[in-house]
Amino acid sequence: MYIGSVRFYKHLILSTVALMIVVPTVLAFYFGVQNHRNKALAEEYKNHLATSTLPQMEYLTGVDYTEVITVPSFGYQEDYPDLYVEEKPQFKTVESEKPVVYLTFDDGPSANTETVLDILKANGIKATFFVVNNDIEAHQHLYKRIVDEGHTLGIHTYSHQYNKIYSSVDEYLADFNMIFEKVYSITGVKPTIFRFPGGSINTYNQNFYRQLIAEMLRRGFVYYDWNVSSGDAGVTYTSAAIHSAVLNGIGSKSKSIVLMHDSSTKHATVGALQSIIDALKETHEFRPLDNTVEPTVFTYKDNSVGN
Ligand SMILES: [Zn+2]
Repeated sequence: MYIGSVRFYKHLILSTVALMIVVPTVLAFYFGVQNHRNKALAEEYKNHLATSTLPQMEYLTGVDYTEVITVPSFGYQEDYPDLYVEEKPQFKTVESEKPVVYLTFDDGPSANTETVLDILKANGIKATFFVVNNDIEAHQHLYKRIVDEGHTLGIHTYSHQYNKIYSSVDEYLADFNMIFEKVYSITGVKPTIFRFPGGSINTYNQNFYRQLIAEMLRRGFVYYDWNVSSGDAGVTYTSAAIHSAVLNGIGSKSKSIVLMHDSSTKHATVGALQSIIDALKETHEFRPLDNTVEPTVFTYKDNSVGN
């Protein structure tokens, strides 16, 4: 038997000793070469950096190309393929000898819209209506009358329920699309401008207003906040108070976007309209908004607020 014999043990010892010498020698040689090569590469890279004029930037390795070039996409970007403004807005300089006043009415149509339209018509003035959904049968023709009489019809909201529309971009779009479709089917006109309920930034949309605004702009819509408030959003006010709030707000501004409301309870607004027009008609020019007018918008003082 070879295994277990004296010769076997001799060979075993000799082989072990041989391996103990050969393996470390080979490894040492291999790593020595590698190390030398690495040093040479490092040296070369150092020289390259010293002579390179390119900015040295930190970078990640091992990132898939597709991961790098993919533009972030959100589900809502695919939704409502018809909810786009066909012609992208181009703002123009407003040419006018006089300061310009844009009267805007939110929340209509209502039981008061007819009277508002009559007053505007009698004075030859065009204004802007940011409309909501109104299911009252007798009010349906008002969407069309607004358009037919040369006023601008913009979107406000379908439901005007802050909790709902400002719960996500998807909810906002769903609501917006409903009123957009309704207005289009009644008037044959696709609105291109809108006003956010509560203004573009408010306590309800703080967590996603950047995304929301970005999405609406991406679709080509232009939104208008205001730089003059009639103060008629509150509970108690009189026509006289509205009149002076508007005139004081306009002051010496060359461009005023005036917030007013058109709803069945806002009789004081209707009551103030003629006197506001009378006070301004010699010195100012009334115009309807359209998407060539550069908007007046709100912004947080601290630009880091919200998302
Ligand atoms: Zn409103």
